[in-house]
Amino acid sequence: MVYKWTEFAQQLACPAVCILCGAKGHDGLDLCRGCLGDLPFNHHACQRCALPLPDAAPEDALCGQCQRQPPKFDRCYAPLRYGYPLDHLISNFKFRDRLAQGHLLAGLLGNFLLQQQQCELPELIIPVPLHVSRLRVRGFNQALELARPLGKCFDLPIDNHLVIRNRATSSQMGLDKRARGKNIRGAFELKGKVLARHVAIVDDVVTTGSTVNELAAILRRGGAERVDVWAVARRADNR
Ligand SMILES: [Zn+2]
Ligand SMILES: [Zn+2]
Repeated sequence: MVYKWTEFAQQLACPAVCILCGAKGHDGLDLCRGCLGDLPFNHHACQRCALPLPDAAPEDALCGQCQRQPPKFDRCYAPLRYGYPLDHLISNFKFRDRLAQGHLLAGLLGNFLLQQQQCELPELIIPVPLHVSRLRVRGFNQALELARPLGKCFDLPIDNHLVIRNRATSSQMGLDKRARGKNIRGAFELKGKVLARHVAIVDDVVTTGSTVNELAAILRRGGAERVDVWAVARRADNR
């Protein structure tokens, strides 16, 4: 059974309070109506990879990259553009109060997915794996923290062991799209057969899409027929 996020949040029995200003939360989220309205929503985006597009873009628009060479995933759902104040929420989530911020970010993504009429639910959720060395430093995998409440809300299983990151890639920051693709190639290893036909990969931010593209390719090789990406935010530059 799929709950509305509000119903799901009520089960947690803690009143929603805005993380940014302290006012009463709205729609079951730890954000008030005003602060929610200030978030950079990704209203006009590529229908394949969720790359933010200009406001004048038609609803079914594809970005140039997806027209030339479509990615290995079928569709990326990303309700927000990466920018202020979301960048603060995401960095707080990764480096500070991970549970409250993670629940809020998962709520924003979950509400968005519930609004998508054509969003066919997957059979399995795969959080983007972290290499064990990164996991040791951070102490948790942010993608898994986002996947957990989404799995509960949509009543879907999460597999955190099917794919591992077998290589500690150098940071993708500062690399262009081509260099990111090269950096991430061969970084994941499938540890078994993908028994689900339809899988959703969960991540916090999709930057150029290289990481989720590589992961989608390996899941397809393992037997998945459809791979979607669920991300909280998509960056605007695709270089
Ligand atoms: Zn607020
Ligand atoms: Zn695209």
